[in-house]
This record gives sequence, C-alpha cells and structure tokens, in this order.
Amino acid sequence: AKAEGSNNIRFFDENMDLAARERNALAMDLRSALIRQEFELFYQKQNDTHSGEIVGFEVLLRWKHPERGYVSPVEFIPIAERSGLIVELGSWVLREACREAASWRRPLRIAVNVAPKQLATFALPAQVRSILQETGLDPHRLELEITESGIIEDQQHALNIIRQLKAIGVKIAMDDYGTGYSSLSTLQLFPFDKIKIDRAFIDGVTENRQSAAIVRSTIILAQSLDIPVLAEGVERLEHLHFLREEGCGQVQGYFYGRPEPVEMLQDIVNPPDLI
Ligand code: C2E
Ligand code: CA
Ligand code: CA
Ligand code: CA
Repeated sequence: AKAEGSNNIRFFDENMDLAARERNALAMDLRSALIRQEFELFYQKQNDTHSGEIVGFEVLLRWKHPERGYVSPVEFIPIAERSGLIVELGSWVLREACREAASWRRPLRIAVNVAPKQLATFALPAQVRSILQETGLDPHRLELEITESGIIEDQQHALNIIRQLKAIGVKIAMDDYGTGYSSLSTLQLFPFDKIKIDRAFIDGVTENRQSAAIVRSTIILAQSLDIPVLAEGVERLEHLHFLREEGCGQVQGYFYGRPEPVEMLQDIVNPPDLI
C-alpha cells in the first residue's frame, strides 16, 4: 500500500524501503492526529476469576486514521515512542481516561498503560497529581501499567518515580510479566501492586506443558509475595478453569469481552438502578 495521508511534508528517500516509508508516513500523521482528535479510548473488562464480577477496565488506545481506518497500537505506539510523541499522547490518554472514569456512577478501577519514555522523565508524578485533582478521580481507582522495558534503563530513577506515584495513592502493575529480561529481579526491586501475566503464556496453557508450568509458578510466586495476579488473553472457558484452579485472582480477555468504546459499557459503569 502506498503511504498517502494529509498534505504533510514527508521525508521520502529513494533508498528507504517500503516499511520505513510507511513508518515515516505514520509518524507524520500521528503528530496531526492528536490535534485532529483522531484518537479514541477503548475499555476492556477485568474480572474476578471466582465470582466473574467486573473489578475494572484496562484502557486501550485506538487511532481512527481518516484513510486507513483503525490503526493498531502495535503499529503506532512504537513509532510514537521513537519520535517522543508518546509523552504528549500518553498524557492525553491519562487525562481522558480519568475524566471518563470520574463520571461513572460505579467507582470501578481503570488501568492505564504508561510508556517507558513517560516514566523516564521527572514530570509524571506531578502530572498524575494534577490530572487527578482536575478530574476529581479517587487516586485508588487509578492503576498504571508499567513494562519491564520502562524500568531497566535507569532503575534508580524508575524506583524514585514509582515511589512518588504510590505516595499519591495510585496503584502500579507490572505489565507483560514473563516477556522481559529479568522479571524476577525486577519483582524483587520494585513495589508492584499487581502482576499481569502476558497473554503469550495463556495462549497454550491447556495444551502446552511449558506454558502451564510458567503460569502456575508465576501464580505461586505472586501469592507468596502477596501480590494480586491477573492473567490477560483469557479467551476460552478452559483458560478460565485452569486459572481458577491454580488460584489466579483476576482475568482479562475475549472470554469476558473485547476492548469496546465506553458507550457499549453504560449498563456496567452507569447502571440505571444506581442513582
Ligand atoms: P498490552 O498492554 O499487553 O494490552 C493487551 C492487549 O491484548 C490489547 O491489545 C488487547 O486488546 C489484547 N487482548 C486482550 N484480551 C485478549 C484476548 O483474549 N485475545 C487476544 N488475542 N488479545 C487480547 P491492543 O489493544 O491491540 O494493544 C496492544 C498494545 O499496545 C498493548 O499491549 C500496549 O502495549 C500498547 N498500548 C495500547 N494502548 C496504549 C496506551 O494508551 N499507551 C501505551 N503506552 N501503550 C498502549
Ligand atoms: Ca497493558
Ligand atoms: Ca501483554
Ligand atoms: Ca504491553
């Protein structure tokens, strides 16, 4: 596909391969997308494994490109990360999500992804504090999902930022557990409030002995550290049964629901019988 978009100036180069040109085009479009309000937030349920009750939502960013339609975050987040735009984009996500959640009748929790670049600055705690103040959201209803790649570069800095965030009352989850370089030593060093097992391990949990063993031992580890554990990518009843059996407290995945616009979730966040 040819990379066409707005009238932005593009830095095309004869020698650039198609993939690089695509990325370049997307990077240009990303910049204007914020101004044109092409971003949307989707919400995916997180459920208690035993009762099935909804405990909160993960907030997932969507880009509705004028010509391409929905572009996956898997495609544009790395580009935004590289160009530095993720810092601005990330603060937009945070503000929008907090504003939205603060308007709900039910005080459900929201989990927002925080990119490594956002964590790398000193600005995050002050920014979170001011967004909470501005929106009126109870800090305990906000959870920030942080990946290991966000903290390995400067561990001391990351630890400092995480402590400040926790002092505000915000919860910190370790995202994509098991996919990093040294998940165990990261766990030892950082005061996480939750561990999210990556869906790469849930996928084969009922057929693959290795996946099952990894998930099982992660749950045991989390339990002995007294940290709640959530498994993502739960698509089938067998996944749920396995996780329930092994003592995993929370799940997230297509089994309970795909990420959706909040308009589709009104019965949950604003139930008519709750005034
Ligand atoms: P993630 O943080 O690991 O988020 C979970 C991803 O798994 C989401 O993909 C979600 O739609 C998908 N998922 C959930 N349940 C299932 C399931 O049962 N089966 C399958 N096959 N997939 C499932 P999504 O929305 O495409 O997001 C991809 C990644 O993009 C996220 O992975 C996260 O790393 C990043 N991302 C999304 N929104 C944001 C954001 O606002 N900020 C930052 N920094 N990153 C974001
Ligand atoms: Ca996440
Ligand atoms: Ca993941
Ligand atoms: Ca991730």
